Amino acid sequence: MARQIPLDSAGRADDPERDRARDDGTHEIAPDLAYRRLAIVNVVFVGAPGAGDRTGSDRPNSDRQWVLIDAGVMGTAGLIAKAAAERFGPDSRPAAIVMTHGHFDHVGALEELAERWDAPVYAHGLEHPYLDGSASYPPPDPSVGGGLMSLMAPLYPRGPVNVGGRLRRLPEDGSVPGMPGWRWLATPGHSPGHVSFWRAADRSLIAGDAFITTRQESAYAVAVQDPEMHGPPMYYTTDWQKARDSVVLLAGLEPDLVVTGHGPAMRGSGMRTALHELARDFDRIAVPDHGTYVDAPARAEDGSAYRPP
Ligand SMILES: [Zn+2]
Ligand SMILES: [Zn+2]
Repeated sequence: MARQIPLDSAGRADDPERDRARDDGTHEIAPDLAYRRLAIVNVVFVGAPGAGDRTGSDRPNSDRQWVLIDAGVMGTAGLIAKAAAERFGPDSRPAAIVMTHGHFDHVGALEELAERWDAPVYAHGLEHPYLDGSASYPPPDPSVGGGLMSLMAPLYPRGPVNVGGRLRRLPEDGSVPGMPGWRWLATPGHSPGHVSFWRAADRSLIAGDAFITTRQESAYAVAVQDPEMHGPPMYYTTDWQKARDSVVLLAGLEPDLVVTGHGPAMRGSGMRTALHELARDFDRIAVPDHGTYVDAPARAEDGSAYRPP
């Protein structure tokens, strides 16, 4: 059985007292970096508080100053928009919504928010088929955490997501629209076009589901959110070799701060040591002993990662 690595709560990157004082529903982990937990998943806000979008009669061209990373589960558009309004200013709109990947728990409010904010949606080209209505992911593997999958069924989207008209590719040069100082990195495995975001200046990493910081396979652990260094959520990971290479890449960055798709943001040497352990011993720690995609990965290269919608 795969086993994960417990993390000391002292390494949590958020400050509950400061968060309570700010009272905007987010955890702030750097002056221009905050995340909000929505049921089972995190969304990340990148940009300085009060950034606004500076659009007005004196500034006819939109000059939007912040970015939303990922878009939560179904029914959370209002909560995400409210947190954004409190953090960046009423009616403030993002320069872009940028996706780590397109799994259902990251796109639940995507169509509604993209429309409401009239914002472009950026994702890796290999995720586009899942975001323009042309393909579905391979089905989750119930043998590696199926119990929670059925519990989460009410959160599933009603049909394939389609933001086709607003969908853009992440720039080839590694830059991230609306996020100066950040680079995107291809971190496939959990999904074909999964990406992470890295800011070298303060060694901040937004890792999506390349690895996560809580146990996502049991309902109890998801509720309690005890921090642990954990491989990508098992039931949805379709190429474990690539997933391992991605964790090796991210550990090699020596991040000081990580915020992932699931679990609390963590910082410091304890987190880093655990991340290196996960990279070094990935097959034993993160990979299930048996599973549909352990034996037969679903890949972009042969088309097996794209199923009819
Ligand atoms: Zn995922
Ligand atoms: Zn996820």
